[in-house]
Amino acid sequence: MQGKEIIMTSPSRDQRTSQGRLTGKRALVTAAAAGIGRASALAMAAEGAAVLATDIDEDGLALLAADADGALSSAVLDVCRRDEVMSVVDEAQPDILLNCAGFVHHGSLLDATDEEWETAFTLNVRSMFHTIQAALPGMIERGSGSIINVASIASSLKGVGMRCVYGASKAAVIGLTKSVAIDFIKDGIRCNAICPGTVQSPSLEDRLHATGNYEAAREQFIARQPMGRLGTPEEMASLAVYLGSDESRFASGQAFIVDGGMAI
Ligand code: NAD
Repeated sequence: MQGKEIIMTSPSRDQRTSQGRLTGKRALVTAAAAGIGRASALAMAAEGAAVLATDIDEDGLALLAADADGALSSAVLDVCRRDEVMSVVDEAQPDILLNCAGFVHHGSLLDATDEEWETAFTLNVRSMFHTIQAALPGMIERGSGSIINVASIASSLKGVGMRCVYGASKAAVIGLTKSVAIDFIKDGIRCNAICPGTVQSPSLEDRLHATGNYEAAREQFIARQPMGRLGTPEEMASLAVYLGSDESRFASGQAFIVDGGMAI
């Protein structure tokens, strides 16, 4: 296996004993050390799932594991490294796969380089191609599985200014979601996308600071959402729990929008 070794063992089905909406299910979350992935890993563990939280940020994973009070396992995983992905996902055999890793490129088409396009599509789309490829065989064998891909309202759903590469990559995530959903629906596997509006997260803070006028940029982001506020990672995590649970068993191939009214 390339890259860093798994720092904790993958979770077992009986890791959690309390009854929750995800009891008896194994979940693998990518980009779980911060933001939406972190909140989702915690929420899934709280609902009884045996969670394997993965990220490139080893310190962030250690903090997460401490906050979860031993209720989840973690592993360092760079989703851009195919061999690493195949090995970690194959070992974890998740019933729920939450693909959260993603990167926001700022700019119009004329601002983007080929390298930036490649980087964004590798992290935002090809990573999901690989994690799903690794998770599907086990799901097919078990006759069930829920794959959840984090896309964005900035995608095929809405053109958002200065998000050309990002929006194109997230539109691809929605296309990938629908394709997997239709191809494996008879195998008992569901695949859905979560499409957030602007959510308070560490990378959002970085983007706001990068504008050079933090307060003005923050006001501008808030103004895009008719509810008059940013979303929280926990609000996205609630949807991730629902999509991972059997409560959503009749839903597949959909792009679920949670955006404070941005798309209205
Ligand atoms: P974030 O961007 O603040 O944190 C992302 C995490 O990803 C970090 O812990 C980082 O270490 C990890 N990461 C980066 N590269 C990685 C790699 N190669 N492999 C594994 N992990 C890696 O979190 P966020 O803002 O909650 O974003 C999560 C997802 O939600 C992304 O796909 C993003 O595009 C999407 N999203 C976010 C917002 C928002 O406003 N925050 C809106 C719509 C969609």
